[in-house]
Amino acid sequence: MLIRDAELDGRRTDVRLTGGRVAELASGLPRASGEEVLDAAGGAVLPGLCDAHLHLSALAAAESSVSCGPPHVRDPAALTAALAAAPADEAGWVRGVGYVESVAGDLDAAALDRLHAGRPVRLQHRSGALWIVNGSAVDRLGLATADAPGIERGPDGAPTGRLWRADDWLRTRLPPALPPDLAATGARLARLGITSVVDATPDLAQSSLDALAGAVATGALPQRVTLLGAPLDGGLPVGLAAGPYKIVLADSGLPALDDLVDRIRGAHAAGRAVAVHCVTREALVLLLVALRTAGVVSGDRVEHAAVVPAELIGELAALGLRVVTQPGFLADRGDDYLRDVPAADHDDLYRCSSLLHAGVPVSLSSDAPYGPLDPWAVVSAAVDRRTRSGAVVAPAERISPTQALAGYLGDRRVARGTQADLLVLDRPLAEQLAAPTADAVRAVLIGGVQASP
Ligand SMILES: [Zn+2]
Repeated sequence: MLIRDAELDGRRTDVRLTGGRVAELASGLPRASGEEVLDAAGGAVLPGLCDAHLHLSALAAAESSVSCGPPHVRDPAALTAALAAAPADEAGWVRGVGYVESVAGDLDAAALDRLHAGRPVRLQHRSGALWIVNGSAVDRLGLATADAPGIERGPDGAPTGRLWRADDWLRTRLPPALPPDLAATGARLARLGITSVVDATPDLAQSSLDALAGAVATGALPQRVTLLGAPLDGGLPVGLAAGPYKIVLADSGLPALDDLVDRIRGAHAAGRAVAVHCVTREALVLLLVALRTAGVVSGDRVEHAAVVPAELIGELAALGLRVVTQPGFLADRGDDYLRDVPAADHDDLYRCSSLLHAGVPVSLSSDAPYGPLDPWAVVSAAVDRRTRSGAVVAPAERISPTQALAGYLGDRRVARGTQADLLVLDRPLAEQLAAPTADAVRAVLIGGVQASP
């Protein structure tokens, strides 16, 4: 393919792609016979975006689920209406996503039955860590007699309908469903300009690995896929790459220091860096002590870093850790943070500028479906840190549009010999950065092959 008249690093150039790579960069390249031509008409050409933290299967499943949280659903009446109108899957189940307590409080099976008792319902908390099921679903799942960690029980031993971090177990009890449509997800990612993704789901089951590998093999999922949840003992299907090893420091119960040190050492010994889910101050303190003890390897990273006290920034830098964060949460639910997080911690939320300033590399990402997927919306959120109501969270942490875009590009560049994973915009880069929008994505190529439109 020959991309004509693209803007690259402020200059206009043609770009020739051959064998999946950038072969030539020069003005006025003659069209070779049989070569496809894309006229960029002065639009910018960039490396394709990398979303460094998302959840592919959950994202695909969310497409066929009913939204049960803001902005669509804000109160019990709206939740009742949404559940009543929701289509069921082949087995008659309703799957809700994005629930948060501000809608209808701390739900359990009994409370959910008051909202919808007719069909089995499972409702995912927007954090992704909790499922709430109604009475009909409690029966169908056999929760009363089930024995799995994460099944919450009341003082009488009866299941409450709340299941913590129990997705793998839940999957074994749910009726077999059609695999989620990863093709729709792949197409959506491509339309946004995303050419590579890092799936951050921990401990991926073999069935999930097979589904992802199948989608990559058929081209349904055209993006390059790296998995944090790839097993430590290898055995990854072709087409998938193992990334740093995901360790979750659950917000609801931290591990003992020795256990965490052992897990980090185990991953390092297996040749993997670690990617540690860390959203509270306590979790970050524990993680930094553990990494000091276990030692750090290149590629070790902190996922979310939702709260970083100022006094820990130097230690993050000293250890050479990367932070993979999600300023999109500020745009999506920043008002909740400002209400629920102690005021003294507001300056510590989803830091960007102070980390970069201290020399901590920062990758931006979506955490989709739990955070907004659109990378251009995330870039805007990193730049203005504005909530839905217009408040600004920790204004000192704002970064420039160029810095924010770099959070999706890393150090990749469009140069001779680089992989032809490219994004062509319909406008010059400066114009796009002044008002970032996915509408500007004109074409997306992965390995030189057009993935969108
Ligand atoms: Zn995540």
